[in-house]
Amino acid sequence: MSKTQVTVPLDIPDVRVLGTEINERGELIITVESKKSGTRCRKCDRWITKSHGQDDWVMIRHLPAFGRVTYIRFRPKRYQCQDCEGHPTTTQTLEWYESKSAQTMVYEDHILLQLVNATIEDVSMKEQLSYDRVMGVMERRISEQVDWSQYDELGRIGLDEIALKKGHRDFVTIVTGYLKDGRIVILGVLADRQKDTIVDFLRSIPKRLLDTIQTVCSDMWEGFTEAVREEISTAKLVIDRFHVTEHYQDAADTIRKQELGRLKTELSEEEYKELKGCMWAFRKKRSDLTPEERKVLKRFFTYSPSAKKAYELRLQLTAIFEQQISKEKAKAKIRAWIARVRESGLTCFDGFLKTLENWWEEITNYFINRETSGYVEGFNNRIKVLKRRCYGIFNLNHLFQRIYLDLEGYRLFI
Ligand SMILES: [Zn+2]
Repeated sequence: MSKTQVTVPLDIPDVRVLGTEINERGELIITVESKKSGTRCRKCDRWITKSHGQDDWVMIRHLPAFGRVTYIRFRPKRYQCQDCEGHPTTTQTLEWYESKSAQTMVYEDHILLQLVNATIEDVSMKEQLSYDRVMGVMERRISEQVDWSQYDELGRIGLDEIALKKGHRDFVTIVTGYLKDGRIVILGVLADRQKDTIVDFLRSIPKRLLDTIQTVCSDMWEGFTEAVREEISTAKLVIDRFHVTEHYQDAADTIRKQELGRLKTELSEEEYKELKGCMWAFRKKRSDLTPEERKVLKRFFTYSPSAKKAYELRLQLTAIFEQQISKEKAKAKIRAWIARVRESGLTCFDGFLKTLENWWEEITNYFINRETSGYVEGFNNRIKVLKRRCYGIFNLNHLFQRIYLDLEGYRLFI
């Protein structure tokens, strides 16, 4: 028997193991008793040591041992206060167990770690815990709002909108911080993207931190930019390059659509078939094209010189954004690009040119430090995944907790 026994740490301090058993369901039950004596009186907060029996048996989930669902079984001790009137009794508080919780703290840490980039359902299944219990751990242990005291300075923040439902027009605002050490943190999940909502949020930032915000990255949404101009007038506004790119890519794409539509009626069915895959090829960078896509695109461009022009102009602008150049230099290059667009006779970029004009300073501010929001830098893909995972998280507090866990979970619970 002794050969098949091993000793594993219980990860619970100050307890004595009274016995272990495996029940009929194959679950491991470890019976313990607290070695600590005394507790603080719940009335007067004095340390009390006069024993007053025990509460009923409690059985709480603990870290699985060798893949078995494991429980800790114990009777909380009670103590009586000699000083308070009526000599009230208090149940001993233990650092490894929060009263009324159904799990040990260390097991809750384990659950929270499992929740990083996973769904409540997944964790519930894997841990054989009910959905509500997993949710309960998250609700109890993870704050639903930012704790400003953990930050010394903010430097750069990002304001981004996400739609919680596909095709839905109700947006929520995600506020991220990009800390000096490179960490991206979640600062807020706001109910909508109205200017007033943003103003209220910015006003909730402690003054000492507000003063450290040098850059605000956002998209071209006046609710965001007006709120920032009014509340943090010293901050530099930067339009996320990502949003600018999206804008002119869509512009170029309208020509692609139009021209394919035209060709569909003008070409024979056979000839048109040879343009298959051209939509994806058109959207790609030249360096990402497969030989096959190159061919398709070349064929398309022989039929449509204007699509070719739009494609090239798009690549040229991207090339400017790729360069490490000063804001002034970037402005000159973009002006030259605008001139080329005008000469081309294409109208698909008209809307984008207007955007450039309206947001000229904010767009070219990008070139000062090449800053984008935390959302854009490696974060938006995670949000996309999160949205897919948690389809139907309309509770903003839960959304904050989920994002917080995804971003900070590994750091906090490993
Ligand atoms: Zn007392």
